[in-house]
Amino acid sequence: MKNINSIAVLTSGGDSPGMNAAIRAVVRSAIYYNLKVYGVYEGYKGLIENNICELKSSDVSNIIQRGGTILRTARCDEFKSPEGRQKAHQNLKEKGIDGLVVIGGDGTFTGAKFFSQETNIPVIGIPGTIDNDLYGTDYTIGYDTALNTVVEAVDKIRDTASAHNRLFFIEVMGRDAGFIALRSAIAVGAEAALLPEVKTHYEELKEFLLANNSHKKSSIIIVAEGERHGGAYNIAERVEKDHPEYNVRVSVLGHMQRGGSPSAFDRVMASRLGVSAVKALINGHSALMCGVLKNEDVLVPFKEAIKDTKQLNQALLDINKILTI
Ligand code: ADP
Repeated sequence: MKNINSIAVLTSGGDSPGMNAAIRAVVRSAIYYNLKVYGVYEGYKGLIENNICELKSSDVSNIIQRGGTILRTARCDEFKSPEGRQKAHQNLKEKGIDGLVVIGGDGTFTGAKFFSQETNIPVIGIPGTIDNDLYGTDYTIGYDTALNTVVEAVDKIRDTASAHNRLFFIEVMGRDAGFIALRSAIAVGAEAALLPEVKTHYEELKEFLLANNSHKKSSIIIVAEGERHGGAYNIAERVEKDHPEYNVRVSVLGHMQRGGSPSAFDRVMASRLGVSAVKALINGHSALMCGVLKNEDVLVPFKEAIKDTKQLNQALLDINKILTI
């Protein structure tokens, strides 16, 4: 056990729904364990610029249901240099802060890894990203909400697609990882999913479309933004050129996937991980990400969480293949 008296929490990188629920959990559990707790505004930028304020329990009232982050988030190049990180360290030292919780994705954890190596301030991470691409945890905060947003949007698009007998290419977020694309494809009953992790050849897709055209009133193809054909517009253009008989449309869902009120699942996950992060600091841990694996709380070294590649679930890939005949 380490003697921790005072901690700070920040959100960094891309925002995700449920970050507020995680902030609330960190603040309330810190107070529960008799720690002083500070909020850092705008991520590492606020750490360097000393934009740090003490938070009371009432400051996090009525935020569990809100998307975005009350602490705001930012990208900060200065934190990538040891000099920038030393400024941040100095600000924490002056306030007597002896532990830090960072909520974010792999960039945030990369910065946190360096910071914890260079200073004596322990840092614990909470995975907050809609992409679900961090190794060592089954879920990241915001993923479930983003998935539900995609499903709701695609259901609506399906209504108009069926009315007009159209082929829709719908692009969802996931530059490096197809978690949102695969799960949403299953959930909406998509005719196909193009994922960064799976090499789908253009010829395969064409054959598939031809085979399906006779008995489907509408077709929805989910395209992860990072897949190999260059996104929904490129692949749609190609299909349209080769098959003028198709009534092709494209929809890029974009930033709506990051917003909105977090789902019950994300609120519970964020609450659980927030408490877990504070306990990890009290128990003397550092340079670890809190996660949940097979429904157990786990602590994963930052270097593993950001380095190892998380695989798509093979069973879900098989299910998707079986159900798209
Ligand atoms: P995310 O955490 O969502 O992946 P980013 O990749 O934008 O978001 O990273 C958030 C912040 O983390 C960056 O703006 C920067 O301050 C910090 N960061 C990212 N990469 C590094 C790095 N290699 N070294 C130090 N800090 C980093």
